[in-house]
Parts: sequence; structure tokens; C-alpha cells
Amino acid sequence: MIDLRSDTVTKPSPAMRDAMARADVGDDIYGEDPTVNRLQEVGAALVGKRAALFVPSGTLGNQLSVRAQAEPGREVIVEGQSHIIRYEQGAAAALAGVQLHWICGKQGLITAEQVQAAIRPKDPYSIQTALICLENTHNAGGGTIYPLATIQAIRTMANAHGIPMHLDGARLFNAVVASGVSAAEYARHFETVTFCLSKGLGAPAGALIATDDPDVMQRLRRFRRMYGGAMRQSGILAAAGLYALEHHRARLSEDHANAKRLATRLQQIPAVTIDPSLVETNILFFDVHSTKFSIPAFVAALKQEGVLINAVGGSTCRAVTHLDVSAEDIEQAADHVAHVLNDEAGASH
Ligand SMILES: *Cc1c(COP(=O)(O)O)cnc(C)c1O
Repeated sequence: MIDLRSDTVTKPSPAMRDAMARADVGDDIYGEDPTVNRLQEVGAALVGKRAALFVPSGTLGNQLSVRAQAEPGREVIVEGQSHIIRYEQGAAAALAGVQLHWICGKQGLITAEQVQAAIRPKDPYSIQTALICLENTHNAGGGTIYPLATIQAIRTMANAHGIPMHLDGARLFNAVVASGVSAAEYARHFETVTFCLSKGLGAPAGALIATDDPDVMQRLRRFRRMYGGAMRQSGILAAAGLYALEHHRARLSEDHANAKRLATRLQQIPAVTIDPSLVETNILFFDVHSTKFSIPAFVAALKQEGVLINAVGGSTCRAVTHLDVSAEDIEQAADHVAHVLNDEAGASH
């Protein structure tokens, strides 16, 4: 199977499993797991923050960041197609008791002007804005990268109003590798930054939340326990995260090249609509217009040929490249799409 549904499907390599098996562990709730401690130090340093906290998932990283920085009854500004809005089961409302104020972005990216207009006035009637969240790269926007200048402009706005910022950097290192902007350069504009170890970096689970603020860190720790995300001998998982950070960051550029190549191949198939210039990292969306197939039937037919992709609504499909798909797999996947859509012209061999 060539699995292009998500970069979450990656499995730990033998070398990563070896690192996990050899990990020194202890009880992390006592702060005694040396491997977790090392991962937190390495992760914090990578994004230029003083400290980081290991959590089981990126979703928990976002939710603890919201909970720690926004009181119930406050408002949190997010983009309308963000992970926090779409894919976290309403946790910000259900668990943090905040109201999400969403702004419609372009390919998931919002501007300082939009944020400015969304910040509530300080008067006795208006709900108060407590936090601004950005997502880089933006998943539903198509793996789009925030221009640093946009982040800086939003930060200036946030400073003027004294509002903290959170970065959902689930795929922050995809943005780093593709843009050449360092993780620390992105992260310095945010009070809290989360990034996933389990996406393209290839660890089986885990994410880090990084911050400079000891009070925020204390709250993150308290709420991690409250939310059930504090673990014991989690050094086994942290070892996978350390291995991922050490060995799988630079190679993300291969995933980006594969995504570009797939987009270029798909563009040659008449029944497919895609703009390869919109493919900035490892996520691509494309539309299929087939008289022969509905989208679910197209996805099922591709599966028959050994290629997995996601239907995401309407005529749109999503493919994601990652460390378990090779350049050769990409050529084959494109051949299968062309074959399924019965267009031999699209197949190169
Ligand atoms: C995957 C992802 C997360 C975290 O998801 P988990 O499934 O909890 O690891 C958060 N934000 C974005 C943008 C993501 O793509």
C-alpha cells in the first residue's frame, strides 16, 4: 500500500525502535525520566524557548495552551479552518470554556488587519480577547507557510493590546525546512508553541509545548495532569521523539519534493484540477471531475490499486507525503490515479 492519507501513518523505523528499547526511564510525574527531560531540553532549544513539556498529542498541546492562557468566558482568535476549530471535538468550548472567534483566512492564513478587526474593545459590554492562535504550516489550507512578516505584523498588533499568542506548529519543521526561517525565528513571536513528533517526523506519538514563561509552564503542567495527559515511564516515547528530531527533520525536504512531483504529475491528468504552485510543503489538495466515478468510488478504486488517499468533501481529495513513501511510490501513485481515471496519457510508464 502507498498510504497518502496523512503523515500520521508513519511507523517507527527499526533504528527508532532500537532507541526506544534502550531508553533510560523513570517516573515523569516526579520529573525523574531522564529521556523525557532530555527531549524537553532539546525541543525547547530547537525553538529557542527556555522550557518544553512533553504531551501525548498535538491536540492536547493546543488545548493546554488555550486553557493555560485564556480564562473561561474569554475569547480566542483562530482561523476558520484551523485544527483547533475543526478537529479537536470542540475541546476549547467544552474543556476550557472559551469562545472561539474565527476569521476566514486565505489558504488558512490571516492578516494583521483581520486580527485587528477581531480584537474586542475594552468596554463593560464586550467579551475580552485572551489569546490569538496561528497554525504554521496550515493543514486545511494545504500545508501553507506563514510569511514571517505577517506573523510579525500580527505580533505588533497583539503587543499593542497586551494579548498573548499561541502557535499550532504541528508541522512547524515543514515550514522551517521549506522556508529557511529557523524554528526559533518563528517561535519568538509566540508565548507558547506546540509541535508534533508524530507527523512527518515519524515518532509513534507525542508533541511538545514550549514557552519562556515559568508561570505558563506551571499552569501547563497542572492542566496536563487535570486533562489526563501526564505519563509515567514515557521515556520510551520520548526516545522516539529524540530520534525523530535528530534524524528526520532535514529529510522533510524530500517529502516536499515528492509532493511537488505528485502535483505536477496529477496536473497532467485531464480529470484532475490542481495548482502545483499552491503546494508549499507536504500536503496537496486536488479536485477530481469524473463522469465515471463519485469521489468515494474513486477513492475506493484507488485503494484497489494499492493507493490510499482521503476524500475531504465535494470533489476534493487530499494527499500527504511522508517518510514512508519514496519518490518511486509517488510515480506509481500518479500512474494509478491516471489509470483509475482511465487516462493513459497521464501515465509516464
Ligand atoms: C495533527 C495536527 C494537530 C495535532 O493532532 P493530533 O492528532 O492530536 O496529534 C494539531 N494541529 C494541526 C495543524 C495538525 O495537523
